[in-house]
Amino acid sequence: MKIGIVGAGMVGSAAAFSLVMRGVASRIVLVDLDDARARAEAEDIAHAIPFASPARIEAGGYGDLAGASIVILACGVGQKPGETRLQLLARNAEVFRVVVGEVRSASPDAILLVASNPVDIMTQVTLSISGLPAGRVIGSGTILDTARFRWLLSRHLGIAPKSVHGYVLGEHGDSEVLCWSGARAGTVPADSAAEQVGRPITNEVRQEIDDGVRRAAYRIIEGKGATWYGIGAGLSRIAAAIGGDEGAILTVSTVSDVLGVSDVACSLPRVVGANGVTQELLPDLSPAEAEGLEASAAMLKDQVGTLSL
Ligand code: ADP
Repeated sequence: MKIGIVGAGMVGSAAAFSLVMRGVASRIVLVDLDDARARAEAEDIAHAIPFASPARIEAGGYGDLAGASIVILACGVGQKPGETRLQLLARNAEVFRVVVGEVRSASPDAILLVASNPVDIMTQVTLSISGLPAGRVIGSGTILDTARFRWLLSRHLGIAPKSVHGYVLGEHGDSEVLCWSGARAGTVPADSAAEQVGRPITNEVRQEIDDGVRRAAYRIIEGKGATWYGIGAGLSRIAAAIGGDEGAILTVSTVSDVLGVSDVACSLPRVVGANGVTQELLPDLSPAEAEGLEASAAMLKDQVGTLSL
């Protein structure tokens, strides 16, 4: 499978590296305004190929995205001093207007995988510019927050993260909702599993895990300036689900109606395969979780309303 990546910064490059190490792509093309950066990243990552599956990775222009099954959008501009979040958003929306246009003409059949932040809003912007069906414009959304939740819960329980399930829904950001009511170890509700292994989920444990998920990005940014490995792995997980037509359930962002909020991009558990997102599965939520999810969706909808789409 050929995969294009626009934006060979930390996130785009980490995604490319993860795609190579997982053997998801046979060909990867990195496109960046900074061509020297794209070429250097491609060469560096290419040196990992002898330790992974056969693949080709190179830097290129938009024309080289022809025939790509997926194009990951990880490009964007950083916040200028004194700039508000909404001004930054407007500038990034302008970048996307150009980039998405170029990508659509070069590879009209590609599924677009949006990684740039604020990811839910950029997903909605991309859908609007691209004119694609909603299921073919997928934001990485809370795939990473869900991974953080499963990892922290698995550490507490002493059970492998692959056997621990729990979703983070809504915005990829401060208003996201950790769905404790549906958390499971195997098929056993997390609270019961925790009692059985002698590590009850007290209010304090719950608070610590909630904070560990919600504040993770802030802590990492404080220490190293940005986050990239986790999201890079999440992007390659989504690409693998598309490439393998897996029908995997992943918490990703697409535009749909979320509880009482119409036409908004935020994360729900969704079925991902060769045609992108084909189904969404709203889990049973506690009243507080449902309220939190609706508030998160409403907040995103308000923010999108400030942009002229
Ligand atoms: P992140 O940590 O999100 O990856 P970076 O700043 O490291 O952020 O990467 C963003 C990348 O996007 C940079 O390499 C930048 O050159 C690239 N970029 C910005 N605008 C465009 C654009 N219009 N087209 C292609 N690439 C772009």
